[in-house]
This record gives sequence, structure tokens and C-alpha cells, in this order.
Amino acid sequence: MEKLIVCASCGAEYDSELVRCPYCGTAYAPAEEKEYMQQLDETRKELEAHKEDGIKSMKKGLGRVILLTVLAVAVIVLLIVGGLWLSKSGENDRDAKKKEEFLNHLGVTTQAEEGPER
Ligand SMILES: [Zn+2]
Repeated sequence: MEKLIVCASCGAEYDSELVRCPYCGTAYAPAEEKEYMQQLDETRKELEAHKEDGIKSMKKGLGRVILLTVLAVAVIVLLIVGGLWLSKSGENDRDAKKKEEFLNHLGVTTQAEEGPER
């Protein structure tokens, strides 16, 4: 159902959906406001879309930074653990050798040192 409004300027009747009076061009406030609000809404939607894009790309970049950081930390931890393991196993080898030498030494001198001194 069409609603007719009366022009405040010239008194002519016209469809309320029209933004302006078709006879004198005077703007009909509610219709104009509606159009303005629509434009504002569109602008807001556009802005929000841009904002979401920005957040999305920011999250993407942040995710990449986090991934790189995690990878770097993992590599560093692997290097440290690997280095520790290598140095420890080297120490173990050396210890084993020392132990063997010591045991050999003991083997040679056991009878001499294990006297009834205690
Ligand atoms: Zn008019």
C-alpha cells in the first residue's frame, strides 16, 4: 500500500518512497533519512569488511611469526639437546675408558693394596 505524503513546501501529494517532491524538489526528511541511513549502513559494512580483512591478514602474519618462532625454538632445543647428548656420550666414553684403566690398574695392584690394614 502506497502512502502519500503532502509536500511541506508546495502542498502536492506524492509517494512517501520518493526522496524528494517530484514537483518542487523539496526533500522529504524521513525518506531522505532512510536513504542516508542506508548509505551510512553500506559505508559501515564496507568499513567492517576492511577491518575484518585487516584482522585476518594480521592473524595470518602473526600465525606465520609464531610458526617461525616455534620452529626456531625447536631447532635450538634440538641443537642444545643434541649437543648435550653428544658431549655426555663423549664423557661417558671417556669415563668408561678411565674406569677400564682404573680397573686394570686395580687388577694389577689389587693384591698389594688390599691388605689387612683396616
Ligand atoms: Zn513540493
